[in-house]
Amino acid sequence: MSVISPARREQLHQSLDQMLDTLPDSLADCEKAEQHIRQGMQKLANQTLRHWAEEAKPSEKPSSCSQCQRKLRHRGRVRRQVQTTLGVVHYRHPRWRCEGCQQDYYPDGQWLCFGSHGVSGPLARLICRLMAWMPGEQVQQFLREDYGVRLSKERIQAISATAGEGLLKEWDRRSEEFQQRHSGPCPQPLPRGQGRWPQAAVYADGTMIHAEGQWREIRVGQVCLGRGEGGWERRRSFARFQDVDTFGRQLVQVAYQAGYGEAEQKVFLGDGARWLWELAELHFPDAIQVLDWYHLSQKVHETAREVYGEGSPEGGRWSQARLEELYRGQWRRTLRAVQQQRKRLRGKSKREALRRLAVYLRHNSKRMDYPRYRALGLPVGSGAVEGTCKHLVGVRCKGSGMRNWKRRRAEAILSLRAAILDGTFEHLWTTCIRQAA
Ligand SMILES: [Zn+2]
Repeated sequence: MSVISPARREQLHQSLDQMLDTLPDSLADCEKAEQHIRQGMQKLANQTLRHWAEEAKPSEKPSSCSQCQRKLRHRGRVRRQVQTTLGVVHYRHPRWRCEGCQQDYYPDGQWLCFGSHGVSGPLARLICRLMAWMPGEQVQQFLREDYGVRLSKERIQAISATAGEGLLKEWDRRSEEFQQRHSGPCPQPLPRGQGRWPQAAVYADGTMIHAEGQWREIRVGQVCLGRGEGGWERRRSFARFQDVDTFGRQLVQVAYQAGYGEAEQKVFLGDGARWLWELAELHFPDAIQVLDWYHLSQKVHETAREVYGEGSPEGGRWSQARLEELYRGQWRRTLRAVQQQRKRLRGKSKREALRRLAVYLRHNSKRMDYPRYRALGLPVGSGAVEGTCKHLVGVRCKGSGMRNWKRRRAEAILSLRAAILDGTFEHLWTTCIRQAA
């Protein structure tokens, strides 16, 4: 037997008939027909859900008060209005009360709404998916125009904040638990490589976003596993305003939980900042350290711009020649070329730019053996890990009108975005976000 009674079914059939009866009859009106069907179905879907809500059985009576174990008394049904992906629906769900401690119980309450936001789980999930890609105003417009759902920008933001907060808490919990299990900076003893993954690449970086009145550095961590025939098969990313210590602990936890310990070859990619190499030595001592090629070439181009001016052909040739040397592993040659150039020049800022590049090369000399990395088949900073900062953080946090973030809100949105980009969102939604709301 269906939950929908024959009388209600009859009403639904009538609505469907009405929609069918008013379809245009000319093929040239195909666009009108499509819109007509979409709107009609949306209405019918809303009507169906309303009927269903009227007839669906409430949960069993809760056994007793969880505070004082007294028996609960039925106190009628409470009407609740919920925004769903199918429009507004009213539910009437039973309330139970403990006469001892005056506590009310709503056994179905949690599943009717996402947190205290008055929206259904599926609508909250849709909002989170959209918020991972675009600002609140655009999400609001999209929901209104495509779903007929009217929500304020503030409510949309609050919903995504609740969901992101659920993820952040889960990450912090895992990080803490990991710390308790493994005393010391990295798991001891290191799990033996079981060859489950041919390669593991750990990547860390920092980027600036405008938050709470100033530009602040947010740290980005990423772990990629795979690189057999299927390329990178698993990716885990996060972005947090953390000090180096906390960030390092989170990165090592994320890496080991993803399966870093089971990779045959391990590589740690960094942009050349000293804190990153220190972090790598402490937490990933078994990884080969590689200076990210993308950052290195940016540094070379930057220097050429300083020295020769923006868009100068001479500067282009100069950086081209330097990058070819570096690609062949001849960083000493590059260093000599940089130093010679510096001797020739008088301009203070040009000399300074060359000096900075020389320092950068010297500090990272042990991590620029690109011919060897290529022979080993290691990633050097192109492909999956290149531009993580830009893709994860920049696109969503640095566009026009994306200024003055609250730090925690930015972290919450970025945790949703990371989950979506990594392909873990659906899993995390059912395992931790929905329950936490
Ligand atoms: Zn009680």
